[in-house]
Amino acid sequence: MKETKLIIKKNFIKKFKGGYPLIFKDAILNINDLKEEGDIVSLVDDQNKFIARGYYGKQNKGYGWVLTLHEKENIDENLFLKKIKIAIEKRKSFYDSKDTNAFRVFNGEGDGIGGFTIDNFDGYYVINWYSRGIYKFKEAIIKVFKSIVEYKGIYQKRRFDTNGMVIEEDSFICGSEADEPLIVKENGVNFAIYLNEGAMVGVFLDQREVRKAIRDQYCKGKTVLNTFSYTGAFSVFAALGEASKTTSVDLANRSLSKTIENFSINNIDYEAQDIVVEDVFGYFKYANKKNMKFDVVVLDPPSFAQSKKNRFSAAKDYKDLLKSIIEITERKGLIVASTNCATFDMKKFKEFIKQAFIETGKKYEILEEHNLPKDFATIDSFPEGNYLKVVFIRIK
Ligand code: SAH
Repeated sequence: MKETKLIIKKNFIKKFKGGYPLIFKDAILNINDLKEEGDIVSLVDDQNKFIARGYYGKQNKGYGWVLTLHEKENIDENLFLKKIKIAIEKRKSFYDSKDTNAFRVFNGEGDGIGGFTIDNFDGYYVINWYSRGIYKFKEAIIKVFKSIVEYKGIYQKRRFDTNGMVIEEDSFICGSEADEPLIVKENGVNFAIYLNEGAMVGVFLDQREVRKAIRDQYCKGKTVLNTFSYTGAFSVFAALGEASKTTSVDLANRSLSKTIENFSINNIDYEAQDIVVEDVFGYFKYANKKNMKFDVVVLDPPSFAQSKKNRFSAAKDYKDLLKSIIEITERKGLIVASTNCATFDMKKFKEFIKQAFIETGKKYEILEEHNLPKDFATIDSFPEGNYLKVVFIRIK
């Protein structure tokens, strides 16, 4: 197969040899030689000596992914088969689980092929494609996948173009179509999933461990505020953990019916819970005016958000958001602070937390920290792939 040779600058050679998978602009001397996404590339030094092989695909700031460090290994069905097979085997404990049937089976570069992920929702699989480049390998990847996995149905989401928005709504590929909603289980709890409604299907699987901790350890008899609540997943777990009451706040209209639905399919009386469709920043003002305080507050905002009145960027505004949250949390209360923003790491996130407490003049203690769960495989050579950061903070 024809390959484009990319000459790697001297000071980055070691990085790639050490397993760094992302092909990035600064490392390449002849970036203009890249022609078409999906083209195979080999990384070479200035003596034309082989370093690694991958493909060209634009994803965020990257220009593609390294798939092998072996000169003799080609990028073909065999390679896809090998990597996907290993990934599936790694998830055996999830496949064997009786009370969880929604989990990630392939996590991009963490499983050896950057650019796509596959999630399992009780036998219905959803493939997310993150670049035009990886999408060129679609047929080979799906063929290999079908040959090793028993599936009820397969869906896909194309998540490149138009700022990460899904451009293809009707994403069913093959097998049978899932019920709408499809009810899946996570640690014994039901979730309503909609596989045909774009990128967000109803639950973020990477928060599984956090939801479990909230249910099992922190909510009994407590009032719980869930901000940026989406479909109310944290609220459902809190209610099942015997919270005295949950309050879910999200500005999207759809969050109301979806949160009611998730309470209902878990036999929770939704009328005993508060579900508020409002901008959280507006809700803070209301809560302050009424002098409301909560025992447990969950804070899991998107990395970027734009509402009519407010614009939020986690990297810039998380500290201020946390300050508002501290004001409405009881003394000795718990804040579960979470972010999936990939532009800063846990160390920086803890700095935001520290600063927010300094500025509010309160003391705190960190009880738990979480990153991505096991099914969201990551590799040591690419720590930025472990984007999830969750800190359980006890106010003193
Ligand atoms: N914490 C949720 C996921 C949050 S997704 C969970 O674990 O399931 C982000 C959510 O934030 C979306 O539902 C979006 O509607 C909501 N959102 C964005 N900006 C908001 C704002 N200013 N006020 C309230 N909700 C907001």
